[in-house]
Amino acid sequence: MAAVTRLFRSSSYVPLIRRSLSAAPASASSESAQVRSQSNSPPRVDPKDRNIQWVFLGCPGVGKGTYASRLSTLLGVPHIATGDLVREELSSSTPLSKQLKQIVNQGKLVSDEIIINLLSKRLEAGETNGESGFILDGFPRTVRQAEILDDVTHIDLAVNLKLPENVLLEKCLGRRICDQCGKNFNVASINVKGENGNPDIKMVPLLPPPHCASKLITRSDDTEAIVKERFRVYNDKSQPVEEFYRARGKLIEFDLPGGIPESWPKLLEALNLDDYEDRRSAAA
Ligand code: ADP
Repeated sequence: MAAVTRLFRSSSYVPLIRRSLSAAPASASSESAQVRSQSNSPPRVDPKDRNIQWVFLGCPGVGKGTYASRLSTLLGVPHIATGDLVREELSSSTPLSKQLKQIVNQGKLVSDEIIINLLSKRLEAGETNGESGFILDGFPRTVRQAEILDDVTHIDLAVNLKLPENVLLEKCLGRRICDQCGKNFNVASINVKGENGNPDIKMVPLLPPPHCASKLITRSDDTEAIVKERFRVYNDKSQPVEEFYRARGKLIEFDLPGGIPESWPKLLEALNLDDYEDRRSAAA
């Protein structure tokens, strides 16, 4: 980790990020299996014996934050979401926050330079606190960011979460955050018929406890127009990142079968962590 922060900080990446982005071909066609790249599953090695350096990919609203955060608790590595870093910056009143507000509220991506600076600061703070390993959520989001990350460290695994776009839209519009404790909820009740032989997708709302219910806010970029623009930007700039990791044999593609109760055990299975969770629960 020290090497990552040092290299991110080093001047060498600045000229690199100024080079133009190179887009790779888009992803392969969908299949009905939940895990489409099972052979890439991490080995069944006790996570405490490994330094976990994973990235989570996936369209806005797919649940990167939810599953990355659960895995971070299970594995004892930090969950670092660049979207959270951007929102923290937005809540300050720096000149940068004004610039970011405009970009985020148009559904566009922040520049590689700004996002890498925010991420470097977060990694440095973690290093000071003795953190090791990470689960990155929302980074890399461009091929250039993936190349820079690849230059400075080894990524073990890229987990690509998938849901159909109509489900993603409902999820984004139903998303609510408690203004006080920061927890995420979702008021959408999703029941979408599966197409092309795929199963139906049902998700019950994730409702807040009474003490959060009166403090719910909606993200300013979760309006229909901005969400649709974020999907467009994802398909254009972030989908090629899937191919970047697929070409390196590091991509696991996971079709979420439904909400957290159905998806979490299957994701653990796909990551070869199902017995790890059982052993931890038994030891608790
Ligand atoms: P989403 O729900 O779209 O996945 P995030 O919470 O990850 O949202 O990010 C919110 C916003 O922060 C993005 O729309 C983008 O403007 C900015 N952002 C987050 N991560 C990155 C990144 N790696 N590169 C560029 N911009 C980013």
